[in-house]
Amino acid sequence: MLRCSTFLEVRLPHIAHNIDLIRTHYASKATLIPMIKGNAYGNGLERVAGYIHDACRVNHFGVASLGEAVAVLKGNAHSIDTGRTNHVVVFSDTELMDESVHHVYAEQNAKYRAGNGAQLAPVLGTEEQLQLFCKLRRTIFKDTPLCLKINTGMDRLGVTLERLKELTPLLRENGGVDLLLQHFSVSGLVGHSFTKAQHIKFQQAKESLQAAGVEVRGTSAANSGAIEQRLAVEEMYVRPGLMLYGPTSLAASSITPDEVPKYRLWDGKCCGYFYTKVLHHYVAKAGSYIGYGITHNLVPEDAVIVLIPVGYADGFMRYYSNMPVTVSPAPPRGHEDDPAVKESALVGVVHGNVNMDIAAVAVHPAMVGHSVEEIMRRIENESQILVWGNDVAEKAAAVKSIPYQLMCGLSIRVPRRYVE
Ligand SMILES: *Cc1c(COP(=O)(O)O)cnc(C)c1O
Repeated sequence: MLRCSTFLEVRLPHIAHNIDLIRTHYASKATLIPMIKGNAYGNGLERVAGYIHDACRVNHFGVASLGEAVAVLKGNAHSIDTGRTNHVVVFSDTELMDESVHHVYAEQNAKYRAGNGAQLAPVLGTEEQLQLFCKLRRTIFKDTPLCLKINTGMDRLGVTLERLKELTPLLRENGGVDLLLQHFSVSGLVGHSFTKAQHIKFQQAKESLQAAGVEVRGTSAANSGAIEQRLAVEEMYVRPGLMLYGPTSLAASSITPDEVPKYRLWDGKCCGYFYTKVLHHYVAKAGSYIGYGITHNLVPEDAVIVLIPVGYADGFMRYYSNMPVTVSPAPPRGHEDDPAVKESALVGVVHGNVNMDIAAVAVHPAMVGHSVEEIMRRIENESQILVWGNDVAEKAAAVKSIPYQLMCGLSIRVPRRYVE
């Protein structure tokens, strides 16, 4: 799609940096299953998968849906979908109850067995799925690994410990478990007792299976929040998502200052930088209304309005009203965090209604400490501005959202531009 001035710049080496950081300082014994679902958290599914395979020697890929898995394989037919080393794990929407897609697993895993394709692993999340899988264990699913989710407290998918006892004979008869996993629900809160309880339950599940003679060949428990706390990183696999792309998962409010060194607060590099431009800027007089509507779009005092060519068709949502946006020209690449850059940044707030194609950013003299004339001078039509980058978490917090949602929200109208 031809779009020159509005794009998401994806700095791929920053993902490589983050993977390195996890491997060396956070989970040195574990194998990574980087989570690339949700279009790699908005950064581009196929391209990110191919990059981390080639540049970071990643061989495991975590997605949410079967469709995402197929896209990863199709998009990387000559790198990921070859040989015996690569594995794509489908964590939630496996489509397993739909017989018409069973052949996708059967054919892909027959290829894997023959040594010329990646393995495709569905995570069984309900008892019905497990029963169906085992019924077809010797036929359609004979080459497909048995991956089972344990419910340790999240209470969405997964088998409870009580039910696991009942299911033990079935698992034993079907050759054991290739991957046993669980998911933490509050790992963003440092040291939370609920997380500890989940971790203990997971250990109990593993031990009870092993004690009953069920082979457990792989285990995985940690997502980003847990990895940042170095929790459950001794399991065979860890599943980092958000941290791969930069932001921390730990709620600052849950860490006391003396705990900071202990957790060595995640200092990953942000990979996604959302740029647009100043379409037009002008002085709006007090009492005028900007754009659609006739209530909350009132300009109370003279202000400078900066129009940017992004709206909800780009995934820049209506509720982003009041989000702070820096409207002075974007700093040179790599200088986003320079103190001088931050000092001189002119920050406005999204004003009134975001519409499909345009949002208005108001720069209020009282907020920035400059006259309307000075603000007008510091903004240039057609100049590049950075909507969000390594400050994506602050942007999200300002509109009561989370970085995941802002990142995943960017639509296909925003081209992804890759920096290798
Ligand atoms: C999304 C997901 C993750 C990654 O979570 P983050 O909080 O982004 O690290 C890990 N495991 C599963 C099963 C997931 O669905």
